[in-house]
Amino acid sequence: MFSCLTCDVEVASTKNIEELKAIISLINRYDAICMFFIEISQKNFDLYKGISNLFEKHEVGLHIHWGSMESYAKGLEKISIETMQTELEISLELLNKLGFKPISFRGGGLCCTDASLRLLKEYGFKIDSSVAAKLDEKEGWFQGHGSVPYMGYYYPSKRSYNIPAVSLKDKVGILEVPVTRMIPSGRSWFPYTLTPDNPFYKFIVYEWMMKSHGKSKALITPIFHSWGEGKLRGNKFPKFLEKLDQLIRFLINRDIKFIKFESLL
Ligand SMILES: [Zn+2]
Repeated sequence: MFSCLTCDVEVASTKNIEELKAIISLINRYDAICMFFIEISQKNFDLYKGISNLFEKHEVGLHIHWGSMESYAKGLEKISIETMQTELEISLELLNKLGFKPISFRGGGLCCTDASLRLLKEYGFKIDSSVAAKLDEKEGWFQGHGSVPYMGYYYPSKRSYNIPAVSLKDKVGILEVPVTRMIPSGRSWFPYTLTPDNPFYKFIVYEWMMKSHGKSKALITPIFHSWGEGKLRGNKFPKFLEKLDQLIRFLINRDIKFIKFESLL
């Protein structure tokens, strides 16, 4: 079994940078590898200056909340391609200035459409991680992911981003690496993704290990944020770090190896 840790990096203050550093040193302590999806704009660019070397052993991808967060309220379909293009160009330019040429992407709120994937491909991206199988969280700004399959990763088909290609001919777009979440048993569809702050991560890992039995490269893709998670936000950051530590140790103890997104290509 393999795992790609993913951290959405959203920093707005030097305090957030300190939190990010604490996350990276925790991950380094275990010799683990993490994909850092960085959200960057003119507003927070200066904060990232001088810390590029921290990501040395890891991967850097791009994180955009399309339409400056509007995609949460309205849905990504309502955001124009021109707006998305502008946001991509600005972010890429700023990341390039820091020395990064990302080929992996995650949309804020796990927002993804065929059009957004097409655009990402045009800009040289090779991997997207903006979906979570069957996630159907109606509250807040999450997009419905009803048709996303339970797979470690897949190439989308010509029909849509959430339908795996059945043949090489059918394969389009870029590699899709869904965030791992609980496989519902029976009729209830839990919205829980594999984040350090939910109490179900052990179940989620065991379910994935069982369901992917025999597959050579079954993949577990946890998600967390540079500022901590949901209820653990703010002054609860040390508690979040502790939970992240537990999650990483839990994976290591089950002999799950950390790999880079790039190795999936
Ligand atoms: Zn985000």
